[in-house]
Amino acid sequence: MAEPLPAFRVDGLDLAGGGLIRLHGVIDEHPDLSFLTKLTGRVHVSLKGVRRINSFGVRSWIDAIRKVPESTHLEFIECPPPVIDQINMVAGFLGKGKVVSFYAPMTCEKCDVESNQLFQVAEVKRNNAKLPDVKCPKCGGKMEVDDLEDQYLLFIRDH
Ligand SMILES: [Zn+2]
Repeated sequence: MAEPLPAFRVDGLDLAGGGLIRLHGVIDEHPDLSFLTKLTGRVHVSLKGVRRINSFGVRSWIDAIRKVPESTHLEFIECPPPVIDQINMVAGFLGKGKVVSFYAPMTCEKCDVESNQLFQVAEVKRNNAKLPDVKCPKCGGKMEVDDLEDQYLLFIRDH
């Protein structure tokens, strides 16, 4: 049996302004995302723990992200593949927020090795919107995105 996905949770929420908050679990019709509309200052939002976002979740996320105060500066860090997929598919998914860092699912076909690697958007931009080389821990060969790299990195273009 598949392990149940963790319920939605927010850690580190400080409505006094700024700081780092961490989102975990599944974003579907259940979570109350109104906390997003109350964030102030410069807030880093780690999405590393987000496991899945369904269509209901996308809708309520967008509703909340649109209401983030004009003066709030959101920086999304450690965006995992399920979040990057939404950013690439759904216009305005981040509102006025920016992605600072993200995970890409890398594989070595030769060794059947898979690993999620963290990249900085600034670093990828400096590299002509390509991922820097990642070496396979087993054979030392170049690992590839388990997806089309150009498609996975679509969001970088508009950033
Ligand atoms: Zn390898």
